[in-house]
Amino acid sequence: MNRTVPQPVRANLADGREILFFSSGVPTVPGVDYRDLPHRAADSPTRLRFDRQIGDWVIVAPARQQRTYHPPREMCPLCPDPDGRSSEIPAADYEVAVIENRFPALSTARVGSGFGLPQVPGFETEAMGYGRCEVVCFTSDHDGSFGALTPTRARLVLDVWAQRTADLLARDGIAEVYCFENRGEEIGVTLAHPHGQIYGYPRRTRRTATMLARAAEHRNSKGGSLFEDIVAHELRSGERIVARTEHATAFVPFAARWPAEVHVYPNRHVHNLTELTDREADDLASVYLRVLRGYDALYGSPLPYIASWHQYRSGTDGSVDGEQEGYLHAELFSIRRSADKLKYLAGSESGRDAFVTDQLPEDVARDLRAVMA
Ligand SMILES: [Zn+2]
Repeated sequence: MNRTVPQPVRANLADGREILFFSSGVPTVPGVDYRDLPHRAADSPTRLRFDRQIGDWVIVAPARQQRTYHPPREMCPLCPDPDGRSSEIPAADYEVAVIENRFPALSTARVGSGFGLPQVPGFETEAMGYGRCEVVCFTSDHDGSFGALTPTRARLVLDVWAQRTADLLARDGIAEVYCFENRGEEIGVTLAHPHGQIYGYPRRTRRTATMLARAAEHRNSKGGSLFEDIVAHELRSGERIVARTEHATAFVPFAARWPAEVHVYPNRHVHNLTELTDREADDLASVYLRVLRGYDALYGSPLPYIASWHQYRSGTDGSVDGEQEGYLHAELFSIRRSADKLKYLAGSESGRDAFVTDQLPEDVARDLRAVMA
């Protein structure tokens, strides 16, 4: 770690799951979770099934059908609960809290350590759903949003993501750590309280594998880093840049798929959030906030978005296949394509993964620049 990040105060919930409290100042004092919950080991495990047509894994998690769905505000499971009887967070208040997901797609609870892939797969190849799913509460303020956080709190969230990334990557059987936020009911968010998620996957995801393969091809043919070259090209071109500071750059990508798609890179090539210096982390958090505030200013109402952080293992010794080419960045995008219209993934996108976009990326960049502070 190139900087000191806060270490969590750890506690356990009534069913044995971990809860971690992170603070920038006075540590949070956890309360006791008095809820009557069955021990999590009794949860039905999830599975990974191999799709031979595509050559990829599908997570099969039927228990997630039961997850909490649009609870009334007074039943919010992510608000602080000093009595320890009604929410997931037994504490009088908190800054940032991380809990193991109560309805995880991937879990270590039933599987122990390791991916558990059969040694000699049959035609139906299935493995236990090993991994880790966490919920990250950005604030105890139910009505807040990431874009409304102070720079100090946004930086704390970045540090929390970094601490979780280092922790999970150090565990056996975790191949990739993915921090993300789904924001807005239109995206499918079932809890209004501002929060994001972290998935520790047991296998490299297909998108990451594709990007690293493209980077390896680029290295072979052009002799440089694909992602460094992309950022350098955007800077030379300039027309899709939406923010540029000493340590971070945000731009609409040349071949954007999604409405309001913006990629945010630190200016120095690092593999993941743990490698940032203090100043780089501050600057990246501040540019990220500016993009989110620009999002909400675009149509004068909260924009539904997905924020997707791409991270890779540290190190340049090539010990992890191809990951030395990986470049930390956030990809943000919306499904809202105008003030009153949503973009649906229909036949071409869902049936063929062939995106059709309704907006010129250069126009999106111009519109975002106009509303970004
Ligand atoms: Zn809440």
